[in-house]
Amino acid sequence: PTSALIPRATPATWLGVMGGGQLGRMFVHAAQAMGYKVAVLEPVADSPAAHAADHHLVARYDDAAALQELAAQCVAVTTEFENVPAASLALLAQRATVAPSAANVSVAQDRMVEKKFFIDCAERSGVLPAPHLLIAADQDIAINADLIAATLLPGIVKTVRLGYDGKGQVRVRTLEDVSSAFAGMQGVPCVLEKMLPLAYEVSVLAARGADGTSVVYPIAENVHRDGILFTTTVPGPHVSPECALRAHDAALAIIEQLGYVGVLCIEFFILDDGSLVVNEMAPRPHNSGHYTIDACMTSQFAQQVRAMAGLALGDVRQHSPAVMLNLLGDLWFDTASGACTEPAWDRVLALPGATLHLYGKDDPRPSRKMGHVTFVASTLAEAQDSLHAACAILR
Ligand code: ADP
Ligand code: MG
Repeated sequence: PTSALIPRATPATWLGVMGGGQLGRMFVHAAQAMGYKVAVLEPVADSPAAHAADHHLVARYDDAAALQELAAQCVAVTTEFENVPAASLALLAQRATVAPSAANVSVAQDRMVEKKFFIDCAERSGVLPAPHLLIAADQDIAINADLIAATLLPGIVKTVRLGYDGKGQVRVRTLEDVSSAFAGMQGVPCVLEKMLPLAYEVSVLAARGADGTSVVYPIAENVHRDGILFTTTVPGPHVSPECALRAHDAALAIIEQLGYVGVLCIEFFILDDGSLVVNEMAPRPHNSGHYTIDACMTSQFAQQVRAMAGLALGDVRQHSPAVMLNLLGDLWFDTASGACTEPAWDRVLALPGATLHLYGKDDPRPSRKMGHVTFVASTLAEAQDSLHAACAILR
């Protein structure tokens, strides 16, 4: 329904992105490779995307004057993080194409709104979120004590807004744990989710164009460590064809139900009994989609450019099996001495099929995403051999 409203942005015009992190940086690179100029709005002067951008608006995400300037300069604007104020996207939309829309982004900003959307969509998508309960005040725990004890424990208390990489989450076993976890969140609304027996985790990148065409990338299998993505493997060694089909169909149903334009990532849990549960979605390219840069016909970032610019979507086929390894700041520090040294990239790059992506961040810190390396090969086993060799080098 939106297609007629979206002006076609052909290369040599300007595109805009809200946010200056690594996702913004890789978006800038993809857009520039297609001939676009890119403006980044980001308050931090020294940020990964700003270094690469053609223009950097140093301003808060809700700075009305800067938003006006961005919308005037750019034919289309996107976001690289889900917590951009929805009101800012709405303001930009008065003058420029905004993809994804403020309405779509705001669904993904609030875990309760997101879960309600997933439930409303379940008949079409075939997937439900984990059993859960909103905890907005202490009495929500008291009133629902029996329900919680019977159906939601052990569980996880998550802040409804602003959580990422496992931050804003506490695992709980008892009602007392729930109370103290909620108290520790400074009174912000939380959701208590039942802890599910995960066999493994997968994510699906989907994209929908301005003309309503949708595409779905191959299903990615993800391993997390301490709540942060560690590796993504595609094809996933544990993903059965039936499971891949169900996740594919669910992603398609969800992106169409949203009337979304752009790249969307949806995370799923596969339980021990083989059933599929929808976890959360990110209204943007995603860490688990970085493999597409080196292993697919169209990267998730080039796809975002195409979608927001009203162009035809690119081919999502994967040409090589791939493994992506996240490079966290911990790798820069010697575990014994604590000394900070650059990892041996020369040795990593000498491994078969390796492509290194560093985000231009100057100060490594533990848990900070500094870059990633992708290994592609003609077989998954060879790509995994390179991964294991890289882990031995980087240890
Ligand atoms: P974030 O926004 O930090 O990515 P998630 O909701 O995706 O938050 O949770 C992070 C990780 O915690 C998940 O990838 C999964 O490993 C684990 N997790 C989250 N919710 C559950 C659950 N209900 N049951 C089991 N594990 C969970
Ligand atoms: Mg997640």
